[in-house]
Amino acid sequence: MTPCDKHVVLFSILFILFWNYIYTQEAYVWRKESQEILKNALNRKLNTNVAKNVILFIGDGMGVSTVTAARILRGQKQGRPGEETILEFEKFPHVALSKTYNIDKQTSDSGATATALMAGIKANYYTIGVDGRAKYANCSSIRNAKVDGMVNWSKYAGKSTGIVTSTRVTHATPAAAYAHAPQREWESDIKLPANHGECKDIAYQLIVDQSDMQMWKLDKEERGAIYKYVWNNSDFNAIDPTKTDYLLGLFQQDHLDYELERDQSDKGEPSLSELVRKAIQILSKNDNGFFLMVEGGRIDHGHHDGKAKKALYETLSLEDAVREAVALTDEEETLIVVTADHSHVFNIAGYPKRGNDILGVVDPLFRQWYPLDGKAYTTLLYANGPGFNMSGSGRTDPLEEVHNLHDKDYVQNSGVPLKSETHGGEDVAIYAKGPMAHLIHGVQEQHYVAHVMAYASCVGQNKDHCRQTNTALSLQNNLFNSCFILLNCVFYSIY
Ligand SMILES: [Zn+2]
Repeated sequence: MTPCDKHVVLFSILFILFWNYIYTQEAYVWRKESQEILKNALNRKLNTNVAKNVILFIGDGMGVSTVTAARILRGQKQGRPGEETILEFEKFPHVALSKTYNIDKQTSDSGATATALMAGIKANYYTIGVDGRAKYANCSSIRNAKVDGMVNWSKYAGKSTGIVTSTRVTHATPAAAYAHAPQREWESDIKLPANHGECKDIAYQLIVDQSDMQMWKLDKEERGAIYKYVWNNSDFNAIDPTKTDYLLGLFQQDHLDYELERDQSDKGEPSLSELVRKAIQILSKNDNGFFLMVEGGRIDHGHHDGKAKKALYETLSLEDAVREAVALTDEEETLIVVTADHSHVFNIAGYPKRGNDILGVVDPLFRQWYPLDGKAYTTLLYANGPGFNMSGSGRTDPLEEVHNLHDKDYVQNSGVPLKSETHGGEDVAIYAKGPMAHLIHGVQEQHYVAHVMAYASCVGQNKDHCRQTNTALSLQNNLFNSCFILLNCVFYSIY
């Protein structure tokens, strides 16, 4: 053996020892972490209490790929690689998949899916608060098709109810909590067709048909309740929850601003988590409990515009709100469900290295996966939408574009040119913690969620099992019966 060969052998041995050390260290870390999780899972006890309170978070358009990308962004904002991050609702012990199709569509819209989540039925595309007998934009078809849901079931059981959303209060998801319409866009009288028959616009149903909202002030005064209306941060922050029974907050003439553009001054608007905190503080005063629906509505809008950064920051805003709800409630008596109404055609693509900037381009580009046009591409992509270059010169290289990849209005590449990117048809996740959260399991139809919430909180058709339990609630009417909180934005074009 020559001196040179000896060096090669020595180097090889050292390399093998070093690699073995690294490997065992890596394996040790991953295994130790998983053993801890396994131990916790083995010790987990089912929570079979009655849910005094139920909070339903709906991330509008928050598909699984959106959650993954938001998780990475959260970690990278904190200076870590990102992939290992766990969002607040990802800590919840029970998870299921939700099949989001509508009766008549493979890929759904937010109106029919919100009806599924809150009323416990499948519905037709673009309808609100009605069952499958209601046909699209057909007024006469809804006469016998109107359905009740968690809001009314909870009110009838003596609970307080509230809605928090970052969209117009008459938009699809919040509208499904109180309205019935064969066309979700009939938000105001100006949108109703001339031959609307018995159909009422959604704003009318909110103001006039809801007994709580009709003659709002007079109603509250007659019942000796303390009510407040607020429309900016200054007034909102001045609200004392201990001295407020009803709160109406309308902060915009349309949707609330994106979190990335929100005015945080006294004249501006609260964040989603600030709205949720105030809502829970007021609703919690009812000894019978409450039902609160919270919608992160602008995740969907960011995606429709092909602006991934806006969609992901809205997802993180929803996560902040979930964290607030977890901190303010007791897992022994509050069921929290976090889900999405539908997904989007949004993807995390290529083979970027671990910790690669989630808002950046795929790096490195391997030879066998190198783009055929030789240009870089963003890790986040849309299957369709406004990010398709129609100029005829092919797509632009993201690294040579005028707009910075981190600009909040940067539009990611898309595969098919559409003015507005579309929803996706694959399943979304349901995350749950609290009483009866273990009923969230397996692959389920979306409308099953409402049945779990009703069973857990002993409302609607699922009251009987509560009479057999020691922890059953005393369902008595009091001042808070039908207490209604609405925190979001002003009605769309009704003035
Ligand atoms: Zn949408």
